[in-house]
Amino acid sequence: MSKVKLDIKNVSIFYGKNQAVKDVSFPVYESKVIAIIGPSGCGKTTLLRALNRMHDLYPDINYKGEAILYPDSINLLDKKLDPINVRMRIGMVFQKPNPFPKSIFENVAYGLRIRGTNNRTELKDRVEEALKAAWLWEEVKDRLNDNAYSLSGGQQQRLCIARAIAVEPEVLLFDEPTSALDPISTAKIEELIVDLKQRTTVLIVTHNMQQAARISDYTAFMYLGELVEFGPTEKIFTKPDQKLTEDYITGRFG
Ligand code: ADP
Ligand code: MG
Repeated sequence: MSKVKLDIKNVSIFYGKNQAVKDVSFPVYESKVIAIIGPSGCGKTTLLRALNRMHDLYPDINYKGEAILYPDSINLLDKKLDPINVRMRIGMVFQKPNPFPKSIFENVAYGLRIRGTNNRTELKDRVEEALKAAWLWEEVKDRLNDNAYSLSGGQQQRLCIARAIAVEPEVLLFDEPTSALDPISTAKIEELIVDLKQRTTVLIVTHNMQQAARISDYTAFMYLGELVEFGPTEKIFTKPDQKLTEDYITGRFG
């Protein structure tokens, strides 16, 4: 049996009076890829952003429930827990690559410096290690001081992955990380995400069902803010328990 890394329990999220996520619960297993699928507007992004405490920046957004991070048993949604602390442990990669307007090197070194790594040799080693783990090193090793914006879209997204994994997050969240990329860059990032299981736990939102089927071990299907079904990806895509899941994966709506 897989160990639970993050237990999402009865999470509800409100934009003002409008409830976008309704009492959602499912486990995120350690060193696996968990996909959240569902039609546009079903609450995938809203749920993911809560886990990184992004909603704390907006006073009209309210949430309740728990997201327990193991083995420390910390509730990431606990209001008493500083969002900065949460973001130290839970990384996030967004839809559109968003490197900082800095050099390739400094993008990856950024989080390390914040955490107090200032020794030059150690920084260099850890930046190199992260770039290698994000499958970008060979393409950038001779141009580390170039601005990150000089990279292609796919390279920028791998740089954002390097930046995220440099600080060794316990869970890495992805929100449709390939939706702005061409098919070749997409294939590379999909393979990379599977490879990242060696070092972290991945929770990925995608509206691309084929992508979920290709790269995830478990799938959560959401509809209208609710979790309809959660299970091993193979089961969800071949013999789901719910009629609604079957209708969605066979393309009857969405
Ligand atoms: P998904 O990522 O599955 O496409 P979202 O989480 O973005 O869905 O949106 C879920 C619901 O919350 C939608 O009805 C959307 O209109 C609403 N919503 C999303 N962001 C906001 C916001 N900033 N303010 C108000 N409503 C929002
Ligand atoms: Mg979304």
